[in-house]
Amino acid sequence: AGKNAGKNAVREFTPEMQDCVNLRHRVQTKLRDALSGGEIDLYFQPKITSGSYELAGCEALARWRTDEGKFIPPNEFIPIAEQTGLITALGDLVFELAAEQACRWDSIHAMPDIAVNVSPHQLRHPRFIANLESILERTGARPEWFELEITENAMMDDVELAVQVIDQLVAMGFRVAIDDFGTGYSSLSYLKNFNIHTLKIDLSFTCDVTTDRQSEAIVRSITSLGKGLDLRVVAEGVETLEQAKLLESLGCTTMQGYYIGRPMPESDYLEWVANWDARKDQIL
Ligand code: C2E
Ligand code: MG
Ligand code: MG
Ligand code: MG
Repeated sequence: AGKNAGKNAVREFTPEMQDCVNLRHRVQTKLRDALSGGEIDLYFQPKITSGSYELAGCEALARWRTDEGKFIPPNEFIPIAEQTGLITALGDLVFELAAEQACRWDSIHAMPDIAVNVSPHQLRHPRFIANLESILERTGARPEWFELEITENAMMDDVELAVQVIDQLVAMGFRVAIDDFGTGYSSLSYLKNFNIHTLKIDLSFTCDVTTDRQSEAIVRSITSLGKGLDLRVVAEGVETLEQAKLLESLGCTTMQGYYIGRPMPESDYLEWVANWDARKDQIL
């Protein structure tokens, strides 16, 4: 036990805490190597339009497979990247991979439409816009091909900065979405200051929308807000037919989730796209 057993005593540095520091340090080192070593990949998850059930683009999600073949989920490495400052390099890499992918898709036909997640730290980084510009220039990708997803909480961290950065992004030709909408602490009046195109309803509402009347009421009010503000409203995390039908009737314009398609490597995604027209008549 520590010297002072009192309430305000400084806690001892326990072996558990040391383990935690060691683990983070190890992950940080490995993540730095991963960024330069090609261990970060993008998976693509399709979105569809309600009613017509046509493909409405995809979301790029980062995947890390270590050189030992171990798979580390983004909910583990994104926070570490954020804490260690590696998020800027990771964010640039993700956008560069998405830009290169979009150019390849453009060259084979369909217009690329890729949503890319942006972390709160990227948003605050002074070179964020300049980095995007130089990636567009280097790859030849067009900003219209991308929607940048920014979480509600990231926007509310520093509203003035967010408004300014979003205005710049839109002026460049990007679209902007508020991700995980409904979980943050935004006051609705701020919405009119954000030059956004899309609200993405957090999957915590989607997952119990068919069983929980509160979630249903929240989804209903988000869609009516979206309609009034002329925004696309995406339901994420759609896992069942029942959810898809209800979300559609509640006014979600776009749907994304395992029921429609999982995040997939590029080759599987293209196969999914090729099969979707036939499959949609069977599952929806
Ligand atoms: P997000 O942007 O809200 O992405 C949605 C997450 O929900 C993804 O998890 C996706 O795989 C998962 N998901 C999709 N459909 C379903 C469904 O039907 N049911 C359930 N239970 N989950 C579903 P993932 O890929 O593990 O990513 C988690 C989070 O990590 C993302 O949440 C995003 O915040 C972050 N992330 C992922 N890739 C990137 C990236 O490239 N950059 C940044 N900054 N963050 C990223
Ligand atoms: Mg997202
Ligand atoms: Mg989300
Ligand atoms: Mg989320």
